Amino acid sequence: MKILFLFLDGIGLGENDPEKNPFARAKMPYLQSLLGGQTLIHETAPFEGDRATLLSVDPNLGTEGLPQSATGQAVLLTGINIPAELGYHYGPKPNPEVAQYLDGKTIFSKTVKTGKKTALLSAYPPRYFAGINSGKHLYSSIPLAFTNAGLSLFTKEDYYAGNALAADFTGYGWREFLHLRDAPVYNPKDAGKKLAELASQYDLSLFEYWASDYAGHKQDMDSAVRQMERFDGVLKGLLETWQDEDGMILLTSDHGNMEDLSTRRHTAANVPLLLFGDKDHRREFQKDIHDLTGIAPAISRFLEIN
Ligand SMILES: [Zn+2]
Repeated sequence: MKILFLFLDGIGLGENDPEKNPFARAKMPYLQSLLGGQTLIHETAPFEGDRATLLSVDPNLGTEGLPQSATGQAVLLTGINIPAELGYHYGPKPNPEVAQYLDGKTIFSKTVKTGKKTALLSAYPPRYFAGINSGKHLYSSIPLAFTNAGLSLFTKEDYYAGNALAADFTGYGWREFLHLRDAPVYNPKDAGKKLAELASQYDLSLFEYWASDYAGHKQDMDSAVRQMERFDGVLKGLLETWQDEDGMILLTSDHGNMEDLSTRRHTAANVPLLLFGDKDHRREFQKDIHDLTGIAPAISRFLEIN
């Protein structure tokens, strides 16, 4: 059994208000068709359909303050209630206290230890590595956990060779913002197909998407709507290619943000947990998930990596 974990930073389940919630405004016909005609908002969860399940998951975990990326991602990767243990939410990048949880206890480490294959399918451009190597930038929790498991992040060369996807799925950002004019580009549907093909090579693969949190902080409705409409195409290509008998796709987030553009801060909203695949797999996967800590144990059980 395989799992593809789609991580979208900073998306919560918000209100049905197109003035502040891009999910209430964006045209996402494919996702909507999977959700019985409904949109990705608070009232839609819980939902179980032929190929998709939507649950509403609490990222606050009983700790005061708004949930943050470093602790939220670390919870997703370990299943440990780190905010409760530390007494605070923290981010965006992990401090030493959060980082200690990301060495040896993550779903990446467990996959490696059981001899299974795992990959972070997002490629990182040269300037990302330059920032890390110079000490100017810290890894966020996901790449930190991944490299701590003894694995290498995909590079520009991997992207050009077709072994990974760009952080925006399509690769246009590599041309536009990184000025790599010869970077491969995909339309959203083909990017989704590519993602399915790449994920089929691993037991556990994760794709990290951060532009959603960025649009939330910028309160940028146009960007948020554009991103989610593009993502709908990616999802269509992905699910049309994905074989449900091979495993499951899950989509979740570390905290809310983009679903409420009336504030540039994170929100206390629940986050969506979307499961795509065989109905029996989805039911088995979700049975002990009550908050964000339930997801990593469910992945471990599904992949038998405990
Ligand atoms: Zn943020």
